[in-house]
Amino acid sequence: MPDGIFFTTPIFYVNAEPHLGHTYTTVIADTLVRYWHQRGRDAMFLTGTDEHGDKIAAAAANAGTTPAAFADRVSALFRSTWDRTGLRYGWFVRTTDAYHRTFVQRVLSTIHARGDIYFGSYTGLYCFGCERFYQERELVGGACPDHKVAPTEIAEENYFFRMGRYQERLLALLEREPDRIVPDGYRREVLALLREPIGDLCISRPKTRLEWGIELPFDDRYVTYVWFDALLSYASGLDAAGRFDLWPATHHLIAKDILKPHAVFWPTMLLAAGLPLYRRLCVHGYWQMNADKMSKSLGNVVRPLDMQARYGMDAFRYYLLREMAFGQDAEFSEAALVTRLNAELANGLGNLASRVLAMQQRYVAGEVQPRAPEPVDEALHAAFARAANEVDDHIPAFAFHRALEAIWRALDHANKYVTATAPFSLAKDPARRPRVGAILHELCEALRTTAQLVAPFLPETADRLVAMLALPPDVLGRLDLPWGEAFAAGHRTRPGEALFPRIDTPPS
Ligand SMILES: [Zn+2]
Repeated sequence: MPDGIFFTTPIFYVNAEPHLGHTYTTVIADTLVRYWHQRGRDAMFLTGTDEHGDKIAAAAANAGTTPAAFADRVSALFRSTWDRTGLRYGWFVRTTDAYHRTFVQRVLSTIHARGDIYFGSYTGLYCFGCERFYQERELVGGACPDHKVAPTEIAEENYFFRMGRYQERLLALLEREPDRIVPDGYRREVLALLREPIGDLCISRPKTRLEWGIELPFDDRYVTYVWFDALLSYASGLDAAGRFDLWPATHHLIAKDILKPHAVFWPTMLLAAGLPLYRRLCVHGYWQMNADKMSKSLGNVVRPLDMQARYGMDAFRYYLLREMAFGQDAEFSEAALVTRLNAELANGLGNLASRVLAMQQRYVAGEVQPRAPEPVDEALHAAFARAANEVDDHIPAFAFHRALEAIWRALDHANKYVTATAPFSLAKDPARRPRVGAILHELCEALRTTAQLVAPFLPETADRLVAMLALPPDVLGRLDLPWGEAFAAGHRTRPGEALFPRIDTPPS
């Protein structure tokens, strides 16, 4: 088996329906898995839903239902959204699954038996929205920075995880292995956290306050703190999938708002449980609309199924991957999506494909007619070879936008090649017909290579291009297929169709 690689999206909290932030992380995971599959790697990604905690209990009560029924409904919505948008997760974990509960209780028992969980009393400032205690210095004007409400002082007896005991080890590891958290700005943020005392982590909630959670295996008066439960789902899900062998190759994909739980709580939990650390934490920024962090409470939700219905999933994927530089914030705008769709997808790619395939029909009856290449043809080939190399440089660095730019530079070259070689003019001279066939053959190779290059990013488009070229679907995985050898003698392409219809009325 070739080297495995395992990605996770966050386990999404079922207090909100799938929106842009969830979709972006899941699109990245799907793209990475498709990319590594195409290169023969054993790759999969896990996603799922985080279903316990105060907020879910409260939302269920508001909706006049039980937390279990509420979680079932929203979890099913996440799963069906990913199914309908073609995001091919390898495992979907729910924190209410029985195997997950067993896994969490086993890990708690292990850590407890090792003496890293103790009982104590605690008085602190608690934000019910965040479901966590705040330190005074973390508040902004006395209020939770996310929820803008003053936290409530709560005193209660609870169980605590000796997180501080693992602080030095984690700090040393992150100093020694800079690629454990990328981009580096987030690693520096975590190093700064770890240079202050991190203290211990309260990992229980009394049932008198909250019943909706996983019971502690050593005290049935308490349930597990939702983060301690949710983080373990990455491992429990992979274990349930029968793929725990992939664990050391885990790449967690997250947005920056959940950096601390993933970079501080989670690795110390793994160290205490005697489990291997994950390989890497990959942190992206926020999508903003009018410079506000997207959230349901702000009322500017972008729903993936709406975007798919309006523009097609590939156009939506393209926009997300092309617009955001991984790690930085980006502005979401439907008008910008339409601009890219029209200019880069409909014109840059779609128009090239339909033009080439129409000329194939008109001038050579669809038959591919290879001949020895001229220098201008070699330059076209070189442009695509360069794009392929650049994609392979950028994807391991999560620079999806750079990878797409590289492919579109090659497409730009191909469009200029059509203008420069002018097969539509040469075709008027019967003596130049063989050269027309040769030019179109070069362009068919360009389209075949494009299908391979875009396959991880735009999977439907890749399939459609290959179908129009009348090549077998498995050609997408044959990255070593030499230029000039994709089409056998007598091969006939099919008439083209519009890959990306232009959108004429951009939304206001
Ligand atoms: Zn809060």
